[in-house]
Amino acid sequence: MKILSKTGDPNIAEVFVAGFRGDPGLMAEFVDSRDPNLPKKDKWVIIVSTQFGCPVECLMCDSGGNYRGDLTAGEIFAQADHIIGLYPEGLASHCRKLKIQFARMGEPALNPAVLDVIRELPDRYDNPNVIPCVATTAPASASAWFDRLLEIKRSIYAGKLFQLQFSVNSTNEKERDRLMPVPKWDLLQIAKYGERFVEKGGRKAALNFALTEGVPVEPEVISRHFDPDKFCVKITPLNPTETASESGLKNAVPNSHHIMKELSLKGFDVILSIGESRENEIGSNCGQAVRKLKAQNLRTTFPL
Ligand code: SF4
Repeated sequence: MKILSKTGDPNIAEVFVAGFRGDPGLMAEFVDSRDPNLPKKDKWVIIVSTQFGCPVECLMCDSGGNYRGDLTAGEIFAQADHIIGLYPEGLASHCRKLKIQFARMGEPALNPAVLDVIRELPDRYDNPNVIPCVATTAPASASAWFDRLLEIKRSIYAGKLFQLQFSVNSTNEKERDRLMPVPKWDLLQIAKYGERFVEKGGRKAALNFALTEGVPVEPEVISRHFDPDKFCVKITPLNPTETASESGLKNAVPNSHHIMKELSLKGFDVILSIGESRENEIGSNCGQAVRKLKAQNLRTTFPL
């Protein structure tokens, strides 16, 4: 792995782009992120890529397209290792909340190597409290992957924190298919898996909705399918990616108060995750850093 660029602000998020296997077409990005209110020894979030590009091609994400296959377990670890290696030895093993998020480029459930990484994480970083975070669209072809994830969670992470987040985005299945064009679990299938995954009193699985103008999100449908003891709802703004703007998608978070209120009344924990506005300036949304670097390289090769 060769680091090609580093951008951002160490107080919020630094985005790295790396090249792999000596192939200029194989780039992946990863992020060293922190909570501005907590020192790194208390909370450290590292976000890694799992695929070169992404075969799902969601309408709101710059990672889609140019899919060139999966990263190996070693290549996924190399991203986190690089970030951890920039800090004093022992910081990762003593960090109270070391989160490794599989939430950058790629659909993690389509890469079997992600399971190997999750299995090895606590040993690799000598930290029994490392927290894996999987963000997924729940592709239908990955059912066996999800069964194996559940086995790993029950054996290695029993009684420990493990975050699972489903990108749901709409309560209307047709809209979900339009936004996330991959055959995937419907709401009922997600609900059934979550029931198995979340232990009584354990961390709830998150249903993520990037609210988009004109895209239905009906609290009644959420409440009919999901148990508020097993699921929470996360509302996020639609990230200002090039793909979202090309697809004509517009952020609807400013109109989200009634949805949040209704969901709260139905017993759901609702998290409004706006993030740092400076993250958008940094371009720390999925796929943006690689896209920018590829465009720069193209301009160097073919000057405007
Ligand atoms: S949101 Fe996730 S699954 Fe969808 S294109 Fe981006 S990386 Fe792939």
